[in-house]
Amino acid sequence: MIKYNLLCKKCDLTFDSWFASSKEFDKLKKKRLINCHSCGSLQVEKNLMAPKLINKTINFKDEKKNTLKYQQIKKTINEYQKFIKNNFDYVGENFVYEARSIHYDNKKRDKGIYGTASKDDIKELREEGIDTNLIPWVENENN
Ligand SMILES: [Zn+2]
Repeated sequence: MIKYNLLCKKCDLTFDSWFASSKEFDKLKKKRLINCHSCGSLQVEKNLMAPKLINKTINFKDEKKNTLKYQQIKKTINEYQKFIKNNFDYVGENFVYEARSIHYDNKKRDKGIYGTASKDDIKELREEGIDTNLIPWVENENN
């Protein structure tokens, strides 16, 4: 099942609807079976959703097959990285150590930190109640 946010071009109503697949949406649309819940217009389109925050590591080898999608994801990540670089201190491989010292020693820092850690490290930190987010990271080839 797939949920689409639909937009009525006539009255600007947006509503959610479930479909068995993306193909089903196209099929129903062709058969003129999708209409607005409010005004009944057939001019109903899929509404573009804001990109969700990416919270898992993406396998870029697979994504590269789909270049456009890869570029879009990369752009989002680049913006994300820019934000982090501007607002967080880079601690590299000391991440786990620094994260613990902030948590346990109440070490004061103006900024949050970012760095590298293994999945197991992050799991441990989370179990200790240290708020840690895993984000995908791409090295910028232009640098
Ligand atoms: Zn409508």
